[in-house]
Amino acid sequence: MAKVRFTETALRDAHQSLLATRMRTRDMIPIAEEMDNVGYFSVEAWGGATFDTCIRYLNEDPWERLRQLKSEFNKTPIQMLLRGQNLVGYKHYPDDIVTKFVEKSYENGVDIFRVFDALNDIRNMEKAIKVAKDQGAHVQGTISYTISPVHTLEGFVDLAKDLEALDCDSVAIKDMAGLITPKAAYDLVSALKEETDLLVDLHCHCTSGMTPISYYAACQAGVDILDTAISPLSWGTSQPPTESMVAALQGTEFDTGLDLKLLTHIKKYFDDIKEKYLGILDPISESIDADVLLYQIPGGMLSNLISQLKEQNALDRYSDVLEEMPRVRKDMGYPPLVTPTSQIVGIQSVMNVLGGERYKTVSNEVKEYMRGMYGKPPAPVNEEISKKIIGDEEVITCRPADLLEPEFDKFKSEGEEKGFVKSDEDALTYALYPPIAPRFLKGEAEEEELAQPHHLDDSIGIPTEYNVEVDGDIFEVKIMPTGFMEIGEGAAQPAGPVGEVEGGVISSMQGMIIKLNVNVGDKIETGTTLGVIEAMKMENDIQAEWEGVVEEIFVEPGDAVSAGDILMVIK
Ligand code: MN
Repeated sequence: MAKVRFTETALRDAHQSLLATRMRTRDMIPIAEEMDNVGYFSVEAWGGATFDTCIRYLNEDPWERLRQLKSEFNKTPIQMLLRGQNLVGYKHYPDDIVTKFVEKSYENGVDIFRVFDALNDIRNMEKAIKVAKDQGAHVQGTISYTISPVHTLEGFVDLAKDLEALDCDSVAIKDMAGLITPKAAYDLVSALKEETDLLVDLHCHCTSGMTPISYYAACQAGVDILDTAISPLSWGTSQPPTESMVAALQGTEFDTGLDLKLLTHIKKYFDDIKEKYLGILDPISESIDADVLLYQIPGGMLSNLISQLKEQNALDRYSDVLEEMPRVRKDMGYPPLVTPTSQIVGIQSVMNVLGGERYKTVSNEVKEYMRGMYGKPPAPVNEEISKKIIGDEEVITCRPADLLEPEFDKFKSEGEEKGFVKSDEDALTYALYPPIAPRFLKGEAEEEELAQPHHLDDSIGIPTEYNVEVDGDIFEVKIMPTGFMEIGEGAAQPAGPVGEVEGGVISSMQGMIIKLNVNVGDKIETGTTLGVIEAMKMENDIQAEWEGVVEEIFVEPGDAVSAGDILMVIK
């Protein structure tokens, strides 16, 4: 048996899983040189949610981060996580954008591309794999690991063979939620080693608590690479600790040969980083929760789900949402839960719970999924639910991207005309995130303040419900705002008037207006799509609930709105 090698995830998955992907480039660079000396198989440092977070919250250019990291890592390959045809976004992009994105990622510093598809539909991976191979990159095809009545070991091995046929160099078992048992890991790794010539990488999260045992079982089955995170950023919904795994394998035939002293020094650095970001770290994402075996929520999703429920002031419905998730997943044909399906299933579960009726509100992503636009679900979807969502619309069976027109040149020239796109990289940023990229590219975005532990953030939702005790009797009192007092700079201001306005169209959720389809004076039918609101990274149509004429519009694309804000008036 050859020695086992490690991929260090501190700069991507670990902080995505524990710190909502908020680590800044300036907190990565000072330790990069030392990390470069460790002898990792690779450092995972880009892709996944890092791209989105950079421009949405950190006012950082993700391409610049990549270039800076590349100039520090001279010996260690930089690895990125690429969501197949979804790249680093949440929907399918046309082939020309996929091609340009992979070329530019390679050019700016990515050495290893881990390519996956949430449905394990290889048609969604083949373009990115081919372009990355053409660049000369190491390409790691991926099995999105899940457990369901329709997923089998043979099915996973067949997928690996298909990935090998596409000339992949290695295969990753991507166990997003830490579901893989030691026996399952042993069996799957053994089968992959027997039936393919690929290097095999096991990528797990510790959520269920079994992962270090599964890693050892994988070693016994001949795994080549394990993904670990330096200890301050390990455990919980993140990867197993690098140092502990190094120590555990020392003196065995799997010995990594990595230097624990060097790792201890790096660990000290990340102790301080963790301290700095403590305000973001949710204790739930750091703990072990075997319930994940029931709910199958991946590491990155869990901390997002919590912060999104907080945003919607609905953290008390957390367990209801967890219970709804497996039902939604079954309705959708058992997709593995990984971005974007984790988000799609997770947010639909939130809507089903908060909306009071299942599938009363449905994101555009769920509609697209039901139309087949994300690829072939592992099992047929629930016909009844599908009918409720898309009626008798035809479901596509071709490769979804075959239906997409090229778009890169359009985004590039449009962005150049408007003056904020100055390079192909800018054009890609714009093409991937049209609602939020312009503000960033124009230099108008601001870096989000680092949340402090017990920060005022938690009290922005001023309590509106009180219990009042009078002579021992408890009375419930609800307080409704009728006016606002200025709470200093930066206080959340409603985009439009709040409260009762005749004919007012009210936002049912907190989010960002990304599109308006109507103008003042337009005649509207009941059911007309007035615009689109992006909430929790999902797009939702705003529909007219009565007919009339648009009298006034209070918002424009790019505006942040809260639940209860009046968006426009239709009379
Ligand atoms: Mn992961």
